[in-house]
Amino acid sequence: MVAALALSGVVAALATIGDSPEAERLLPKTVRPEPLAIAFGDALLPAPASYVYVERFQRGDTIAALAARLAIAESEVRALARLAALRHLRPGTSVSAEVTPEGVLLSLAFLGARDRLVRIERGADGALVARETVAALARWEEAKSAEIRSSLFAAADAAGVPDSVALQLADIFGGDIDFHRDLRKGDRFSVVYEVFAFEGRALRPGRVLAAEFVNQGRTHRAVWFQGGESGGYYAPDGTNLRKAFLRSPLEFSRVSSGFGLRRHPFLQTWRAHQGVDYAAPLGTRVRATGDGIVEFAGRSGGYGNVVVLRHGGGQQTLYAHLSGFARGIRSGARVAQGETIGFVGQTGWATGPHLHYEFRVGGVARDPLRIALPAAQPLPAHALAAFREQAAPLLARLAPLAATQIAQFE
Ligand SMILES: [Zn+2]
Repeated sequence: MVAALALSGVVAALATIGDSPEAERLLPKTVRPEPLAIAFGDALLPAPASYVYVERFQRGDTIAALAARLAIAESEVRALARLAALRHLRPGTSVSAEVTPEGVLLSLAFLGARDRLVRIERGADGALVARETVAALARWEEAKSAEIRSSLFAAADAAGVPDSVALQLADIFGGDIDFHRDLRKGDRFSVVYEVFAFEGRALRPGRVLAAEFVNQGRTHRAVWFQGGESGGYYAPDGTNLRKAFLRSPLEFSRVSSGFGLRRHPFLQTWRAHQGVDYAAPLGTRVRATGDGIVEFAGRSGGYGNVVVLRHGGGQQTLYAHLSGFARGIRSGARVAQGETIGFVGQTGWATGPHLHYEFRVGGVARDPLRIALPAAQPLPAHALAAFREQAAPLLARLAPLAATQIAQFE
């Protein structure tokens, strides 16, 4: 009976797990249950009442403070805090505890970091014993679609798409779409993604399996394909979606995304100053658009703090007005595509916080918004058949979604 209740406590706990917005979205909100009187023990003893409490472990919380909220007696805290299994406790994790009216802890359970299911019970000698298992999560597939009216995140919110899925979309299509400058009202997307669930409740989103993004009338499609050790996103014809350069040098986030659809007075045309300006909040992460080597990282006149990267084929990228540089960014350092190299600032000749970005080929500035970017290797011929087989049902799931979306908004 105790074990069964501890387990149901875990289920209740799951309802409030996670403090990220997406967890909030995935999981139905529950209120803290009324203390539940239950029978405990066998026929030899009169059954004392006990209560099940569910509380969230919060940022900056201590075991003692959590124990107090769970109505666990102070005398129990020392033994509890000594249990190594508590290291799996993370801020946002819900903890359920079964306690007697006197505050004696009968059992405690939570689903911690890395899906570690921790149960603490009384051993035969009365001491607290912790058991850890890896929770077996069920995997679901979810399909959603949305139209963009103000920002990608607003659209994702309206459609109930978790943040991590919206971020993956920006990542997957980041070689084709500049999510800070290219998005337009009326753009739309459909997406199929994994959801991991525990005992019948959605717990957290996983990977995007397939997606369609219609940007300024152009349709981009992507399907995840795991070929042996590594996986990647490919267009239905097997073209690799990864490009030699990302379209945007800014990290895409909920904070930076809103700037994409706005106009800023100090933004100049490319022709006027041979670069592209990105308005963004101070401190927004600036990322290397391609693999390369740091040619220069330091202060330079009107550029302020600037990073110049050298890439293959006589290509260079330049990132100016930075507030500072990321750790390890100095001349000669190797950087990978997407790696943070610095942070948006307004050093040098800048009237407000923004990133000035240049793309040069053979020393000559090119409009980064117009250059054609080479794609990474397509799927090898021998993998195409397997890819098509895997892609077909996913693309079939996207198709009716996209149609619904069009019908809905036309
Ligand atoms: Zn500029």
